[in-house]
Amino acid sequence: MSNPNMEPTNFIEDIIIEDLKTGKHKSIVTRFPPEPNGYLHIGHAKSICLNFGLAEEYDGVCHLRFDDTDPASEDPEFVEAIKRDVKWLGFDWGDNLFHAADYFEALYEFAVELIENGNAYVDDLSPEEIRKYRGSWTEPGKNSPYRERSIEENLDLFKRMRAGEFPDGAKVLRAKIDMGSPNMNMRDPIIYRIKRMPHHRTGDDWVIYPMYDFAHPLSDALEHITHSICTLEFEDNRPLYDWFLENTSVPSRPRQIEFARLNLAYTITSKRRLARLVELGHVGGWDDPRVPTIAGLKRRGYTPESIRDLCERVGVAKNNSLVDMAMLEHCVREDLNKRAPRRMAVLRPLKVVIENFPEDKVVEVEAINNPEDPSMGKRKLPLTREIYIEQEDFMEDPPRRYRRLAPGREVRLRYGYVIKCEDVIKNDEGEVVELRVSCDFDTLGGKTPDGRKVRGIIHWVSAEHAVDAEVRLYDRLFTVENPAEREDFVDYVNPKSLEILTGCKLEPSLKDGALGSFYQFERQGYFCIDTEDSKPDSLVFNRTVALRDTWAKIQQRNG
Ligand code: ATP
Ligand code: MG
Repeated sequence: MSNPNMEPTNFIEDIIIEDLKTGKHKSIVTRFPPEPNGYLHIGHAKSICLNFGLAEEYDGVCHLRFDDTDPASEDPEFVEAIKRDVKWLGFDWGDNLFHAADYFEALYEFAVELIENGNAYVDDLSPEEIRKYRGSWTEPGKNSPYRERSIEENLDLFKRMRAGEFPDGAKVLRAKIDMGSPNMNMRDPIIYRIKRMPHHRTGDDWVIYPMYDFAHPLSDALEHITHSICTLEFEDNRPLYDWFLENTSVPSRPRQIEFARLNLAYTITSKRRLARLVELGHVGGWDDPRVPTIAGLKRRGYTPESIRDLCERVGVAKNNSLVDMAMLEHCVREDLNKRAPRRMAVLRPLKVVIENFPEDKVVEVEAINNPEDPSMGKRKLPLTREIYIEQEDFMEDPPRRYRRLAPGREVRLRYGYVIKCEDVIKNDEGEVVELRVSCDFDTLGGKTPDGRKVRGIIHWVSAEHAVDAEVRLYDRLFTVENPAEREDFVDYVNPKSLEILTGCKLEPSLKDGALGSFYQFERQGYFCIDTEDSKPDSLVFNRTVALRDTWAKIQQRNG
């Protein structure tokens, strides 16, 4: 138990500790119950961390249960992706892998039990009529004319529904609760529908499928879940959750507890909506690095540690809120700052010729792999007559305080010499295409012989040794803060969410990086090698996140 003193940090832990102290439960069982109808997103990560985290903290177990009761939208591809993502986040369900579909027979028996006790009936109303009879928030519902069928007739009809005697949609099984209830969920909810559709686990065995509201509490009970944690939108379903448990002979009595969803600003956390973005081709797929799926975040270079850290910081709340993406970015920066090797990479190259540097000469300068972690050592960087620097590190007509390169001005090459811009070469369009500079060879190691101050330090790559790469920069996926509020959310996809830079020049050591490895490109941010598109002879990097205050930091260290 990682919380031996039982110190609660949120209201769910209060409940758990109370239940353990009073002996209501000897140990806890939680579950993460995804429906395999899409890839997991950052919101699910919150639920995974919470459920698996509580089990770890209180020596319980957490089940992974696929809530696969609707064959129409489910796919084995999603099942595999979900398992992969939960594992990648760092959680292990051990032997506790379950499927709601494996309970179809048991659920059918519970439905029969409801009928036998006069708590369910077969209804012949059309879906349209059922909607009408249901009433509204202000008006009570009306009883269906089929509501008073005898138990025998209901049992017979339900059996024949299962046997496939009726067409799809011709009949449904409904719980017999209260059409006048102020809670719409209690107005005789549908618990079974006829749907001729093969299921990815049960094949053609069934032509009737249970509804989520019915299957969920009973699956929880069959698995002896003690605390069934779900998101706030299910608060109004709780009376129904309890009703099914009270009116069937279930082997245990789980308790539903609701908490606030995790929503991120400028993006979407809904599988259904993410599926639309994928289908419409607004993104390259479920693992597009712009998408807040676990697979997308992973490909973008986010680490499991950073995602778990975010979930921890967000905490467990009772009110829905929109979390700023900056918080997730902060988490990944903190993690990668400690672990990512520093590298030099020029994203928008400008050629520089050091005129007094001999043609064949290669000076090997020493570079620190990670100033946060000396154990990561040093490496050698070749410095040659021709190098690349970042276009934005040169300005022809700079403001007075500009510390980078300009005609007649000096700058230090990171880990190298001080250079001075002697000449600017332009093409016919008047664009700067090359700089001619001179080098002061007495300036290695951060010194100048006459004590003159050179404040600016820029990164560079030897032209002869550089490795070419494509670098993909990402921006927020939507142009509005809360796209989930809008039905037409696809119209707000940010057209500039992806910028592809080709012909980037990287230091030679990046040539042999493994797929997925992450780096800090000095002054540019954190980057990783794309796991899908990168090849040994055509490297592709994703920018995970930009750096803040990089400039200040580099100044400080070399200053
Ligand atoms: P979506 O709308 O994206 O399909 P869902 O809730 O329908 O989400 P499920 O597969 O049913 O997706 O969810 C599995 C579990 O994850 C549920 O317990 C659900 O409450 C939880 N969950 C889903 N989205 C979030 C979120 N944004 N924040 C926290 N938990 C979430
Ligand atoms: Mg769902």
